[in-house]
Parts: sequence; C-alpha cells; structure tokens
Amino acid sequence: MSDTFKAILISRDEDKKQSVEMTQLSDSDLMEGDVTVAVEATTVNYKDGLAITGKSPVVRHWPMVPGIDFAGKVTASDNPEFSVGDDVILNGFGVGETHWGAYAEKARVKGDWLIHRPDSISATQAMAIGTAGYTAMLCIMALERHDITPNRGPVVVTGANGGVGTVAVSILSKLGYEVIATTRRTSEADFLKDLGASQIMDAAEMSEAGRPMGKELWAGGVDCVGSHTLANVLAQTKYGGAVAACGLAQGFDLPTTVMPFILRGVSLLGVDSVMAPKSIRQEAWSRLARDLDMGKLESLSTEIGFDDLIGAASDIVEGKIRGRVVATL
Ligand code: NDP
Repeated sequence: MSDTFKAILISRDEDKKQSVEMTQLSDSDLMEGDVTVAVEATTVNYKDGLAITGKSPVVRHWPMVPGIDFAGKVTASDNPEFSVGDDVILNGFGVGETHWGAYAEKARVKGDWLIHRPDSISATQAMAIGTAGYTAMLCIMALERHDITPNRGPVVVTGANGGVGTVAVSILSKLGYEVIATTRRTSEADFLKDLGASQIMDAAEMSEAGRPMGKELWAGGVDCVGSHTLANVLAQTKYGGAVAACGLAQGFDLPTTVMPFILRGVSLLGVDSVMAPKSIRQEAWSRLARDLDMGKLESLSTEIGFDDLIGAASDIVEGKIRGRVVATL
C-alpha cells in the first residue's frame, strides 16, 4: 500500500452544508488509537445512510470518515490484546459518528473496541453480517433471555427485507422458530420464505394507529421499525411474551398504551449494539458463527465495490436495499 490511501470523507462548510467526497488520506491524518487496521471489508448500515445523506445528525465530529463497522487485519498495535496480523471486527462505539470509521483503506481505533474475528467467518462474511446482523443476534439473545423459546409460539420480524430483518428471519428459522415476516415489499415473499419465514404480512396492516390490544398472534418480536408498527406488535403479543426493539425505520415515536404490559405481562426489551459490552459482543459473534446459515447469508447479501458505497448509502435510506450489502477493499 502506498503512503496515502483512499477514503470517503464527509465535510461541512461554514453554512453547515454537508458534502461527501472520495479522497486520499495518509497515516498522519488518522485519529488517535492504539491499533491500526487495514480494512478488508465494510458494509452499509441504515446509520451509514443517515450519515452520508445527512438525513439525521449521526456525524458529530467534522470532517468524518463514515462507516460504523469493518473487518480487517491489524497492521500496528500498542494494545497487548492485539498483534500485527490479527483478524479483527469492529462495530459501534461511535466509529463513523465521532471517530473516523470504516470507509477508508486504513482505520486507527481503540483496541478496546475490537474483537477477534471467529475463525469460521471470513472478513467478507463478517461484513455481510455487519452491525445489522450482529444486532439481529442481540435481539434474539434478548428474547432467549426472556425464555421466548420456539415452543412458546411464532416470532414476528418487522422490516423483514432489511439488514436486521433478513438476518433475524434466517437465524430464527434455523433455531426452530416459526417466523412471521412483515414487509412493505410483499413482492419479496418468496425470498423471505427461502430465508425461513413461514408467513408474510403486509406491513401496511401494522403501520397505522391500531387498537390498544389485539388478537394474540405471536410470542415474541424483533422490531426494526418503531412507531405505530411497534405499538401494533406489542398489542398483538401473547400473554407473557416479549418484543426486542432495535430500530426506528418508520419513526422513533412509540404511540402505545400500557395495556399490553399490565394486562398481558408483555415485555419490551431494548437492544443497543453500539455500546454493548465486549462479553456480549463476543457471545453474539460466536452465536452468529454457529446459528447463521452461511448459504442463506450469501443469498441475502450483495457485493459492491468501494466506489459504490456512497450510492448504496442513499439507497438504504430510501428503503431500496434488500438484505445486506458488503464492500471489499
Ligand atoms: P434497513 O434499511 O436495511 O432495513 C429497514 C427496513 O425497515 C426496510 O428494509 C423496510 O423493510 C423497513 N422500513 C423502512 N422504512 C419504513 C417505513 N417508513 N415504514 C415501515 N417500514 C419501513 O436497515 P437495518 O435493517 O440495517 O436497520 C433497521 C433499523 O434498526 C434501523 O432503524 C436502524 O437504524 C436500526 N438499527 C439499530 C441498531 C441498534 O443498535 N439498536 C443497530 C442496527 C440497526 P421492508 O422493505 O421489508 O418493509
């Protein structure tokens, strides 16, 4: 690699107008950190889309190299846990938001933010999973901690054609759950069935204000959508069930009532991937290595080039991306 390396940089002018460019950086430009990584693969998450389009104030340090997650190889380390040549994964911890991130051939970060990549997952597979897939796993682990086992009844996944949704459907079905997938893209029903969904619901049935309590349809839920959709998921959750909430694709509001909680003992489980402690991250990644069918991962992923990242970021915000995209460097 030459002295300089390619990167995507988001900048803001005096009038706070945002621009995005492909540029060249050098090592001395990188932010502080005790581990330097040659980025091998990255991906496009919804949050990356928000950062690049400027649709939400994701970026909080200017200029910013976006990209909230990468897989790569350590090229320099002052951290005792990591040596040159180690294969690592990073997601979250404000990378791509407050600390320069994944959309560059090199990243310098805190070793505390890294985990070793499981041997059975390649760098490309790790980013096909990405923060979205890892979040799907965190949601399922949250349901398991609440004893939502396959014999309790179906699990609903909202925003099922998205990154979190497709991975959640795949893992849940491999674990033996009956999966109900809600989507605005019902034309993708066969794709979702191939991933393991047994029933497809039109998201329109869930996206408007509904009744405080409805028919008990599922024991658990993985909600990527928030707003009225999450309120309706809660209203139709069986007695003692639980819903893991991770997303806000429809909205960050939650227009619900206390009824599902106080009359059916339903639990709402919050899931955050960004600051999740290392032990939980390691558990999630080793569960992904075991419980995600890599053939299904391939079928839900699209490979793109580094130069396509900016366009893909706009597409994800417009809901045009199915499943996951992965970019190799
Ligand atoms: P994607 O954009 O890949 O998927 C979101 C899906 O939600 C879309 O594919 C679409 O599914 C559905 N959707 C989009 N817009 C709307 C809308 N207006 N109304 C109803 N449904 C909609 O994003 P990800 O899967 O990567 O992320 C999903 C959510 O989870 C995002 O809000 C993201 O910010 C959040 N997230 C949170 C994390 C955390 O730590 N808590 C970590 C990762 C993601 P379909 O086409 O099937 O209808």
